[in-house]
Amino acid sequence: MILILTQDAKPESPEYRQLMGHLAHLPNIRTSIHTEKGEEQVLTEIYLIGNTQALDIEDMKNLPCVENVVRISEEYRVLGRHGADHRPSHFDYNGVRFGQDTLNVFAGLCAVDNPEHVEIMMRALQENGQNCTRMGAYKPRTSPYSFQGHGKSCLHYVFELAGKYGIRVIAMEITHESHIDEITNALEKTGDPTGVMLQIGTRNTQNFELLKIVGRQSRFPVLLKRGFGITLDESLNAAEYLASEGNRKVIFGLRGMKTNMSDPHRNFVDFAHVPVVKRLTRMPVCIDPSHSVGSRAGGPEGILDVMHVTAQGVVAGANMVLVDFHPAPAHALVDGPQALTLDELPYFLEDVAIARTAFEKRCELNGKFKHPAASSGV
Ligand code: PEP
Ligand code: MN
Repeated sequence: MILILTQDAKPESPEYRQLMGHLAHLPNIRTSIHTEKGEEQVLTEIYLIGNTQALDIEDMKNLPCVENVVRISEEYRVLGRHGADHRPSHFDYNGVRFGQDTLNVFAGLCAVDNPEHVEIMMRALQENGQNCTRMGAYKPRTSPYSFQGHGKSCLHYVFELAGKYGIRVIAMEITHESHIDEITNALEKTGDPTGVMLQIGTRNTQNFELLKIVGRQSRFPVLLKRGFGITLDESLNAAEYLASEGNRKVIFGLRGMKTNMSDPHRNFVDFAHVPVVKRLTRMPVCIDPSHSVGSRAGGPEGILDVMHVTAQGVVAGANMVLVDFHPAPAHALVDGPQALTLDELPYFLEDVAIARTAFEKRCELNGKFKHPAASSGV
């Protein structure tokens, strides 16, 4: 059970102390307090763990400082959507809002190769009204002999250039806890010109020790990619590891599943799960069309499969698109064959906007026919 406190609830107030005193006397119940500092307010939630079946919702609602009470299931305690749970499904980071009702495009380099390409990419993003990007510095590669990313040596120029071109958030994969310190130090040395969203890649979805460490910091939001060979439930539990340690600024990324059934695509596109994740949890959902499709193949009408699947995800309500672009894909050090080129950026963004409008119209249509969604069963 979660007690959602009123916005003005202060730990030092007599009402708050009275509430905590009451909770301390409930038999077989322990409490865990989560606070979330938003830009405008502090949200405090008290999780009651143990024999909560014996507690009456109305009694709990009448306690001091309590605004609302949600009975939760065992699953995805923090990030899950529990019954009539109207808690917010968004967070703000460095001036950008991420929610189940927003859409942000993170077009950028799969792997940073040199400052010239980073600058060309970021300039193009600014010219096209974008303030987010992806920049890989730490690359998890199948072969130990492949380029592993420039690591911390590229961070300074990536961050400085981001500041120069108005980029507010960079999605950047980390594969080890030490990378958090390297990113923090580089941001500090360059005067915090941008923000970073830590990306946990599909190969690390169940690296629980890494998840716990990333979850214990709340400075950076996290993009957790779905594991490519595990169930959706297992991946959602991985996200819950982050939240249970304190960081709920988590975006869930769909990036396709590893199976030969997906041939000729690199992975089996799983964007049908966009509404599923939004129904089961309060996380914004990201789609990664580049790593799903893995090529620049297209349909007979000339539209690339990468663009088709992007549209499919956005039409279904995706909240973030992580997509590989490169100024010269033939020279990219990682994943050149799936990258879009910079002259395709305005086209890509317009195609995304068409799909988003279609999604919004579909929501309106649903409202008109008042077709209630079936419950999640959670
Ligand atoms: C990536 O986004 O660069 C990446 C390696 O993705 P994934 O973990 O989904 O393979
Ligand atoms: Mn890649």
